[in-house]
Amino acid sequence: MAGLSDHLDPREIAWAAGLFEGEGSIGASRNRKKKTQTPLLQLSMTDGDTVQRFASILGLGRTYRPYDRGLNCKPSYTWRLTSFEKAQAVIAMFWPWLGVRRKKRALEILAEGRAQRVKQAFRQHCPKGHPLSGNNLYISCRGTRNCKVCISERQRLYRTSHREKLNGMQQARRAKRRKEII
Ligand SMILES: [Zn+2]
Repeated sequence: MAGLSDHLDPREIAWAAGLFEGEGSIGASRNRKKKTQTPLLQLSMTDGDTVQRFASILGLGRTYRPYDRGLNCKPSYTWRLTSFEKAQAVIAMFWPWLGVRRKKRALEILAEGRAQRVKQAFRQHCPKGHPLSGNNLYISCRGTRNCKVCISERQRLYRTSHREKLNGMQQARRAKRRKEII
């Protein structure tokens, strides 16, 4: 988390927290396939400079340029953060300035995230039922536990579909060349 502890200015944090309390939102980004959700903090405003300043104070999350949403909508700049650890850090920083409603929402979202992590940490089988133990367990650099059978299956599927695509392109090229020769 580079940037977070390097330049903590309490006045700037207070400004950012006040802005977030007024304009920000706390929610969850759902992954339907994996049936998981990640905390999602967001701030959307038509004033790009303000969003940019907010992002640089935190040194976390990403900013997005506005996209055209039609004639009646003003384009808005968005700052967004989706990560359990980072959301937890930002909420802790903003805590003294957050209102009751937002505090409640933040606690709910973080509790859900923690429960999910505990569940993941104690899972004994992958969604397809392979054991998550012994030789079949792969622990990623981020600490998540994964099934080796499913990983190699995914890699095999990718290679097959990729090869078909490459072969298709090659055949098209050959056919073209043949035509040119004739
Ligand atoms: Zn599996």
